[in-house]
Amino acid sequence: MKITVFEKEGNTIKFVIDGISEGLMNSLRRISMVGVPTMAIEEVAFTKNSSVLYDEIIAHRLGLIPLTTDLKSYNLPNECKCGGKGCALCQVKFKLSAKGPKVVYSGDLKTSDPKVKPVYDKIPIVKLLEGQELKLTATAVLGYGREHSKWSTGLMTYYYFPKVVSGKKASELKEPKDAKGLKEYLEKVKKLENLGEIETEPVEDKFVVGFESWGQLDHKTILLKAVSNLSKRLKAFDKALK
Ligand SMILES: [Zn+2]
Repeated sequence: MKITVFEKEGNTIKFVIDGISEGLMNSLRRISMVGVPTMAIEEVAFTKNSSVLYDEIIAHRLGLIPLTTDLKSYNLPNECKCGGKGCALCQVKFKLSAKGPKVVYSGDLKTSDPKVKPVYDKIPIVKLLEGQELKLTATAVLGYGREHSKWSTGLMTYYYFPKVVSGKKASELKEPKDAKGLKEYLEKVKKLENLGEIETEPVEDKFVVGFESWGQLDHKTILLKAVSNLSKRLKAFDKALK
């Protein structure tokens, strides 16, 4: 198997995987998005809320804020020594206290662990008018995107690598051997194909993959963890089968 990264921009990475079946490619896609844990707010206790929004709406908004995730220091609640009751090894606490007039942003959340904080500071939560107040504590835990999309790591898509087979401009397109030129090649193929100037065929075991992460974890961590989780699940399947 060969992986060639040909584009990296902000939270998005693009690469070509050569030598992988579609079944495995799709498993990798699914497990990367929803089978790698991330941190998200799961419980909110309000002590004051005189804003125009109900507690439930604010709690829902808080849950969707991506949090930087430290997989080495935290356990999933059901795998923790505390048995899921909640402790410093499986929970991060946040405090929020704000008085209007102001817009409350994700950056106003004060964390108990500087390694776990909102990825972006400028996500609006609620607008407070003069005299309105919001006071709460929130608890974040690790979870999987397959349980709730707030824990998903990002969005991965893929398509078959196109092989140019015919057309009057086919001779102009030479498949690059390395990352340099791949981006340009793929853009040119798409453009000429849309214009009807070339025809392509999908290469069966080669895919062009795009992955945009929501920022809780970096791409490398997500992909390595996805591969190890997929392998763990296959081993469990094998054992159950035996
Ligand atoms: Zn615990």
